Amino acid sequence: MTPTQLIYRAWQNTPRPIIYHTADGKGNPIDTECNFLDPLKHPKYDAEWNGNCLICGAPSHGGIPYKALLGSSYTDWSRHKCPESNHICPACAFTMMLNPASHRCCLFRYSFVAEKTLHICNRAEIRDYILEPPEPPFVMAATISQKKHIAFKSLVSYDRENFFCNLEEEQIQVNRQAAKDMIAVCEALRGIGMTKDEIMRGEIRYDRIKKFKLDAYDKINHLLRPCMGTRLFSLCLFVAQKMTEEEAICFLDLTLKTKPSQPERCSSTQPIKAGTSKEARPDTICGNKSSGLPAGQQSGQIMFPNF
Ligand SMILES: [Zn+2]
Ligand SMILES: [Zn+2]
Repeated sequence: MTPTQLIYRAWQNTPRPIIYHTADGKGNPIDTECNFLDPLKHPKYDAEWNGNCLICGAPSHGGIPYKALLGSSYTDWSRHKCPESNHICPACAFTMMLNPASHRCCLFRYSFVAEKTLHICNRAEIRDYILEPPEPPFVMAATISQKKHIAFKSLVSYDRENFFCNLEEEQIQVNRQAAKDMIAVCEALRGIGMTKDEIMRGEIRYDRIKKFKLDAYDKINHLLRPCMGTRLFSLCLFVAQKMTEEEAICFLDLTLKTKPSQPERCSSTQPIKAGTSKEARPDTICGNKSSGLPAGQQSGQIMFPNF
């Protein structure tokens, strides 16, 4: 099964309307409807056409002439699996069609997870799916630009522990445990006030850590350095939410200068929130009594996918 076939089938099995949980300009949560167009109702849909899809190359009965779908701004010609074809299959067409009657709704504007059904996801939801993937097979993709056709450049995943998630057009291999560790590091660093840009650059600013004891720099550096520069880290940072400062101090094992003898901070009974995420937090944080070390330090460094 091609990724677009899986996505299209998921959409067909999804109750309408599909709701996207997002926020308005002021950060208030709002729900919007995603009204995707049905390719079989496209005015140029040709039910009689038989052949291979221009884009995915899969054999198809029924298709839409590409000239009716791909405009002058389309730039993905080099990615087509069957360039000699002149039709696009319904599955690929579904992922590309803009709905002019509904805010130009189109799949490429959203991050999504397709399994039995199609989930249109905000960043916190994609984060939760990375930590807790659905039953395979599934397709997972995160968009940054909300402009690029990433569905047909994605991959079908068949394993919950090692899977793929697109970040824009890039297919990133995700080892679930490594992602869990990296997301926790990102969320902890955001919790002590580091921005995503600083985390990406590995920039540990003095003003972010001046209230902690002197070993803070080394502790943060030790966690951050092994992750940086990997593609998985870019994905994890993109979806990362934020710990509270208290959770972050606990996770990073930092000590405040002002409190020389701190009471037990890392309580497993403390609820941990991350943005709008409903997902239970990684058990490597705070609640894990088997080791006093943050997740990434238990084995000396962050675990990397070994493929
Ligand atoms: Zn949702
Ligand atoms: Zn196709």
